[in-house]
Amino acid sequence: MSFSLKTREESIKFLKDHTVDVLIIGGGITGAGVAVQAAASGMSTALVEMQDFSEGTSSRSTKLVHGGIRYLKSFDVEVVADTVRERANVQKVAPHIPKPDPMLLPIYDDPNSTFSMFSLKIAMDLYDQLANVKGTDYENRVLTKEEVLEISPHLNADGLLGGGIYLDFRNNDSRLVIENIKQAQADGGHMLSRTKVIGFVYDDSDQINGVKVKDMITSEEYVIHAKVVINTTGPWSDTVRHMTKDKEVIDQMRPTKGVHLVVDREKLNVSQPTYFDTGLNDGRMVFVVPREDKTYFGTTDTDYEGDFSHPTVTSEDVSYLLKVVNNKFPERNLTIDDIEASWAGLRPLISGNGGSDYNGAASGNITDESLEKVIQSVDEYEIGTLTREGLEKSIHSVKTQAGDGTKSPSSVSRGSSLTRADDGLITLAGGKITDYRLMAEGALNMINSILSKEYGDDFVLIDSINYPVSGGHFDATNVEGAMKDYIELGVSKGLSEKEATYLAHLYGSNTKDVLSYEDVEFNGLTKAQSMALMYSLENEMTLTPVDYALRRTNYLLFMRDQLDAVKVALVEAMKEYYQWDDNQAQLYTTELTEKMSESSLDKLKTEG
Ligand code: FAD
Repeated sequence: MSFSLKTREESIKFLKDHTVDVLIIGGGITGAGVAVQAAASGMSTALVEMQDFSEGTSSRSTKLVHGGIRYLKSFDVEVVADTVRERANVQKVAPHIPKPDPMLLPIYDDPNSTFSMFSLKIAMDLYDQLANVKGTDYENRVLTKEEVLEISPHLNADGLLGGGIYLDFRNNDSRLVIENIKQAQADGGHMLSRTKVIGFVYDDSDQINGVKVKDMITSEEYVIHAKVVINTTGPWSDTVRHMTKDKEVIDQMRPTKGVHLVVDREKLNVSQPTYFDTGLNDGRMVFVVPREDKTYFGTTDTDYEGDFSHPTVTSEDVSYLLKVVNNKFPERNLTIDDIEASWAGLRPLISGNGGSDYNGAASGNITDESLEKVIQSVDEYEIGTLTREGLEKSIHSVKTQAGDGTKSPSSVSRGSSLTRADDGLITLAGGKITDYRLMAEGALNMINSILSKEYGDDFVLIDSINYPVSGGHFDATNVEGAMKDYIELGVSKGLSEKEATYLAHLYGSNTKDVLSYEDVEFNGLTKAQSMALMYSLENEMTLTPVDYALRRTNYLLFMRDQLDAVKVALVEAMKEYYQWDDNQAQLYTTELTEKMSESSLDKLKTEG
């Protein structure tokens, strides 16, 4: 048993009596990334997350690891360069999670369209160049109108000019978080979910030397002492900064809400991820992504000021996305009744940074002519005849088509920020999942230097590009070969090929450990389902049925039909394992049922 309720109790006991080197607040991808690098570098490390791991934004993304081709139309070649390189690094450390999934980008005859056929080709070439995929099978392709319709026959043919295909990667956001958390725990860290920071403690010089926490399971409050405290709470990072004694904290976050909707594949069948302008002249773009037997689409991008722990999908969000998708797939006629699941998340955007773009609108696109100049500069930068400063200068001198300087939510920077306050609190916020390793690397340099200068500690930081997370301990250059071995192993234990394939892709090099639970049988669950659940209970800090159905697996989002069939058995199995009484089991059943109902928008459906 490596990471379970039992180890949680041991960690709490340890943390009450010891001062750790690093205490991380927030168990989304940012905190998890810092935890892995700190623990692996030999620092004694603790992480506290007030909900389940990844329950904040990091289980609510578009679930892509991408460089954001759209950035190329809004000045951010540097951002794209960094993120496409990081994408490759994420694939290296977690090879079982991000999988190549080329993106189709259809182009329509619309004066407001983000890309023309001409600028798309240039952007895709630049993208390939930055991603280093030129000359490989993943190199971009320009498509005629007929070719686009052959690939995606339900797309609106009206005004369609053609399109392109370029390399992108699918992701499993919450699995990436838990695999980082598990690795940090395996390397000696103390990773606590359902542990909320409610205040800070200080030394005699008013420097933060720990946090007050509340155990959200037992309601016990206690103190954890640490040499360095880092705030990685994403959208909550200002809230946490305001918990310090500093009364002059200036807010830096401007969170925006993004919504995704899921329908059955039979209702909307796309052969591959597809990315297009909304067609509503709002400068935004939307993804339609096939996953399991479902298709999801999103996202919206609206300012948000409600409860950060519980962003919800509104009827306006649904109308907007249905309008966009029905325009592009006119025969589909999707209605709210077709929606099987949904999710809403908050982008932890830093306000005040330079304009940038992600999935949404740009404050000013580059003209095609300028884009070509930028490409030339990148070429020169790549071959070493232009410096990074020269490249930046060239990028910043390009001409825009529009842009009055005011920022729509979509143009607030997707960049990250790393700061240290006078009281010693470090805050690392912003960025994207794709950038998490790089962001953590920056934080570790800062933490290491503090530990060295202020405490005389001497740590050697790991090479995080070559440090796999849990489940990623196999040859990243031969994912297919490794998967084949894990699948064969599953089949040899009596699983069907389909079940074995599912487990191999979910658990990577941990598949062997999952299969070691072959003798476990929970009533109403198949052998494969029993093994996976038992593995998760003992090794993934799965404490509730929702943890399992929503964040350790994707049952609630993309395997809804299967969840309907196993939900009673799932709660019963966990009741048996945790020895819950009937009341507790009933509470967890209600929680799961309410989550499912919220996700399938039952309330909005009945309100009409
Ligand atoms: P979070 O995941 O929110 O983690 C912060 C954690 O801190 C939370 O779990 C919270 O519970 C915890 N916390 C808060 N207060 C406390 C406290 N007092 N004590 C203890 N814990 C606390 N990025 C990509 O790379 N690819 C994409 O496709 C993509 N799509 C996106 C689509 C949408 C709609 C959104 C919203 C974001 C998307 N992103 C994407 C961005 C990405 O999801 C975020 O940048 C990333 O998940 C932020 O991670 P984080 O760890 O900083 O924040």
